[in-house]
Amino acid sequence: MSLVGSADVAVVGLGAVGSAVARHLAEGGARVIGLDRFRPPHDRGSSHGSTRITRLAIGEGDAFVPIVQRSHALWRELEARTGETLMTTTGGLVIASAASDARPYHGQAGFFEQTVRAAERFGIAHERLSAHEIRRQFPAFMPADDERGYWERDAGILVPERCVAMQLQQAAVHGADLRYGVDVSEIAAAHEGGGATLVTDSGPVVAAHVVLATGAWLPAMLPAAAGARFAVQRQVLHWFATDMPVLYEAGRCPVFIWMHGGEGQAFYGFPKADAHAGVKVATEQAEHVTTPEAVQRAVSAQETARTFDTHVRGRLRSLSARSVHDATCLYTSTADGRFVIDRHPTLANVTVVSACSGHGFKHSAAVGEAVADGLLGKTPRVDLSMFATLAG
Ligand SMILES: Cc1cc2nc3c(=O)[nH]c(=O)nc-3n(C[C@H](O)[C@H](O)[C@H](O)COP(=O)(O)OP(=O)(O)OC[C@H]3O[C@@H](n4cnc5c(N)ncnc54)[C@H](O)[C@@H]3O)c2cc1C
Repeated sequence: MSLVGSADVAVVGLGAVGSAVARHLAEGGARVIGLDRFRPPHDRGSSHGSTRITRLAIGEGDAFVPIVQRSHALWRELEARTGETLMTTTGGLVIASAASDARPYHGQAGFFEQTVRAAERFGIAHERLSAHEIRRQFPAFMPADDERGYWERDAGILVPERCVAMQLQQAAVHGADLRYGVDVSEIAAAHEGGGATLVTDSGPVVAAHVVLATGAWLPAMLPAAAGARFAVQRQVLHWFATDMPVLYEAGRCPVFIWMHGGEGQAFYGFPKADAHAGVKVATEQAEHVTTPEAVQRAVSAQETARTFDTHVRGRLRSLSARSVHDATCLYTSTADGRFVIDRHPTLANVTVVSACSGHGFKHSAAVGEAVADGLLGKTPRVDLSMFATLAG
């Protein structure tokens, strides 16, 4: 087979992370080939479903705060450049009781209190609300008396499909060669100082450096011990019907995370912000470990009923148990909820980037910029060194 391309950097996987890396590499003057087995944005991986929560005080750990702050600046800059709306500020509410906050959320016990402390440390505009104040300010929510809220003014919604599409558009504008429908099956050779050869179904691609950003497909592309750091988990999203849509309009309803301590511990949701008639609500499930090939994409009526009964009933006013739309999506999770951004454990010139564990989208713009800057020989604006945990 003849060589189909050569570049300074080949970016494999052009979802949230890969599109950001490709954009910033191309803008920095690198010769970039971007490869994806599908045509992002698509609904086979982790970056679909119309909405993602973004919040600034990060309960997963203070180290994430500068990353999301830089990402917000990048999303706004991308909006100004493209004329697209990518991020809408709706405010954000985290609800928990003292007991439910003792259980881990995204790998962190005390997520609520850590969120409050991060807001205080970083000067992020916020308020603490009692259950009574939550009910008064946001009539969609019906918290119990022992629950309380963390309210963040500048939290909101990202539109993942549009973010990915606009990053790819900018990458292409700056000269990136983006190829869709190309499946990378192997990194055949990676020579010290001599680049790497990718085996694809369209022929080999040679690059001085490779960035592997293949999301839920990443674990199977790594040596077994490294791949075992990740679990791919099926997640289910529901859009429930309401007869009081006004309660869920942006402006009256923020994005929210609700840790109520019951089965599955928590759920989250959004004001009405997409084309579907219902209100989007989702849970996080660790038990459905799967692969992108084997995952059951259809959502059963029993699953919808279980989500409604376990989480929604008695908490969100006026939602009916009838979903108008359901979808599945894939988490690629690590045991501690951290990202993995490191050199490949055995191949020189290959960087692995996974902004994963169910909270990576909001950070992905700055992660992509920092990875690109590192490869371009510039000082990255945010510190990703704590995620270099793969090589051991
Ligand atoms: C249901 C759900 C809700 C979430 N909610 C939030 C949230 O509210 N806030 C937040 O910040 N984060 C959230 N996340 C997490 C966030 O969306 C993900 O961490 C992020 O989208 C992952 O991006 P990625 O680039 O790693 O993967 P993807 O966007 O899936 O991209 C991987 C790409 O690699 C390509 N690929 C794979 N294998 C190959 C191959 N061999 N050859 C070529 N191409 C290949 C795929 O086609 C795909 O396009 C959520 C995730 C899910 C699933």
